[in-house]
Amino acid sequence: GKIELISFCEGIAQTFRRTGNREITIESEFKEIYAMTISSKLEQVIVILLDNAMKYSESSIQIMIKRQDNEIVIGVKDHGGGISPEHLPHVFDRFYRVDSSRARKTGGNGLGLSIARTLVESFDGKLEIQSEVGEGTLVTLTLSHQILI
Ligand code: ATP
Repeated sequence: GKIELISFCEGIAQTFRRTGNREITIESEFKEIYAMTISSKLEQVIVILLDNAMKYSESSIQIMIKRQDNEIVIGVKDHGGGISPEHLPHVFDRFYRVDSSRARKTGGNGLGLSIARTLVESFDGKLEIQSEVGEGTLVTLTLSHQILI
């Protein structure tokens, strides 16, 4: 169905703000961006990315929503410890966890990002990650032109 992405992301962010007591801002130069997409799948992906940002960082989180050419890009950015270059190519693998996160109390199974990527591919999108140790992580979800109105 047709979804307005900014209010959609705002709704998801609000539940995380309440439960996680964290500042989450939505940044976009547009007031409204519409897409044709499956909302339950998109919601699951954004929840996984926000859940990671909450687990692996301690300060504010930004959700950036852009529209460029025929694509929509949703970025979830944190300012946590980041992921080192040797681990980064593997974080989308099933059950892969960086050692330092395995030791954490905030458990996980290393499944979130692999599930997110499978979901994104099912609607012809792209999921990419950029990270800098000590700076933070940015995960971008690109929605292809087919699903844009
Ligand atoms: P779960 O199965 O609960 O999602 P998980 O968070 O460990 O567990 P993934 O979401 O697949 O699993 O993430 C894989 C690994 O990538 C994590 O264990 C963590 O080491 C690293 N990672 C993911 N997101 C971030 C992030 N925002 N900042 C730092 N490291 C991250």
